[in-house]
Amino acid sequence: MQLKSIAWRAALPLPLVALALLFTLLLRQWANVPFWFMFLIAVIASAWIGGRISGWIAVILSTLSVDYFFTRPLYSLVIDPTDAPYFIAFTLSMIVGNWFGTWRQSTDVAARRTQAELESRVRAGSDELIRANRAREQAERERRIAELRWQAVFENSVVGVVLADEQGRIIASNKRYRALLGRGDGNTAGDSLAGDLAEPQRTSLNRQLAELVAGQRQRVELELPHRGGNGTPLWLRTHVTVVPGTPDFPRFLTAFCEDMSGRKHAEEALLAARSDLAHATRLTMMGELAASIAHEVNQPLSAVVTNSNAALRWLAGATPNLAEARSTINWIMRDAKRASDVIARIRALMRKAEQPLEPLNFNDVVRDSLDLVRSELARHKVEVELELDPALPTVMGERIQLQQVFLNLVINAIEAMAGVQGRPHRLFIRTASQAGEEPGIVAEITDNGPGVAKDNLEQLFAAFFTTKPEGTGLGLWISRSIIENHAGHLLALPNEDQGMRFRIVLPCTSEPAQGPAGASISGAPL
Ligand code: ADP
Repeated sequence: MQLKSIAWRAALPLPLVALALLFTLLLRQWANVPFWFMFLIAVIASAWIGGRISGWIAVILSTLSVDYFFTRPLYSLVIDPTDAPYFIAFTLSMIVGNWFGTWRQSTDVAARRTQAELESRVRAGSDELIRANRAREQAERERRIAELRWQAVFENSVVGVVLADEQGRIIASNKRYRALLGRGDGNTAGDSLAGDLAEPQRTSLNRQLAELVAGQRQRVELELPHRGGNGTPLWLRTHVTVVPGTPDFPRFLTAFCEDMSGRKHAEEALLAARSDLAHATRLTMMGELAASIAHEVNQPLSAVVTNSNAALRWLAGATPNLAEARSTINWIMRDAKRASDVIARIRALMRKAEQPLEPLNFNDVVRDSLDLVRSELARHKVEVELELDPALPTVMGERIQLQQVFLNLVINAIEAMAGVQGRPHRLFIRTASQAGEEPGIVAEITDNGPGVAKDNLEQLFAAFFTTKPEGTGLGLWISRSIIENHAGHLLALPNEDQGMRFRIVLPCTSEPAQGPAGASISGAPL
């Protein structure tokens, strides 16, 4: 307790007891009866207002005052035995008054404290309420801002955005998606994500969505032909993922749809241009081959003429030698067939229309192509060494296109070696199967010409790159595009000693190779 408070409590009984004494003295003048209740009031008031200390000081002061002023002998602190009972009764009543006043004061203090506590709790509670209210308002404001932002991104996105349920039914779609599908401001809710697709794409998308929902895949990414506005074809690349659910909202799918139609058209145009170029190159190549083809066809035709003369001679005698004539006619038929085979192959090479993919043995492509350049190889004194894998697996391909690639590589090798003097010209052709993750076949054409520096190998495949005065620079470019269209690779590698090595890699089907297995021919010039 503070000193100031103690002094105040000690001083409080003085005026109260003094007032009680004064009134009691005045009343004695008037009635000559001691009205001690005034002291009782002073004691109770002191204890009530000032507490225990004030109460006891008031008791002492009142007792002393009554002893001095009202107990015989008067004006002395001595007590006459006859007044002692009254005095003791007075003192006891003062003590009781003090107890009563102190009790009231303590209950008042407790009540005030309780009230203060209550008030402070109410105040704290209402502060907390205000704070909670403010936080709620702030959260609500932030939620509204986030929603507005999200809405702006959703609606103004340059790609189509769709939210769909686990069955692929649209919950909401943005403006771009509706515009792509020609739905304007129409409602797409409830439509299926795959709804505008034709079969088998519809089943394929639905199956992949089901796998996504079942957790068998992380995402669905497809490029599919949808039906755009006015029924025009629309290529959409659709990327779908699952958004996990919350206690209030089940999980759902988000699909982002990008319009790939422009790119598709450009790709188609590029393919058409490549096809035209390929055709042009094929014709150019045919020009270059014309001489050797003429030679190739001329040989059997001359044989046909010679053998026809011989047959006529066998028949012209007095006794025609029918056996010899028959055998000569058989030779004629064989040579005519050879000439017609060559023509058929040339015609196939010149045909522009795309051939269907067919399962084929690459060894056959090698042999057929070599047949076409047989005389060219002989003219340039090129020794061909073949190492063809007899167990080569089947590849799916367009026979004529693959022949075109192979021929291009062989002719390039012949031309490269033509400038080399002082060593035999060797062409080594090898095929082999390739195991591993991507099973396939490898075909390599290795020459011992001048070769190309390691750093310049990639530029050989650039369109219009040529080092030949009459070259087009398109052969390797087209060859690579053909092989890549077959999902394969065409690589240029430096040969270890001298010259170049080109490697064709093609993926294979699981079927075993059909047709006769290629025999290994080593060191046999063709
Ligand atoms: P072109 O034969 O019309 O020049 P290609 O695209 O077929 O066009 O070949 C491009 C270039 O690659 C050739 O000009 C030549 O310089 C180089 N090249 C191709 N094959 C070989 C090879 N076997 N050895 C050395 N250089 C080659």
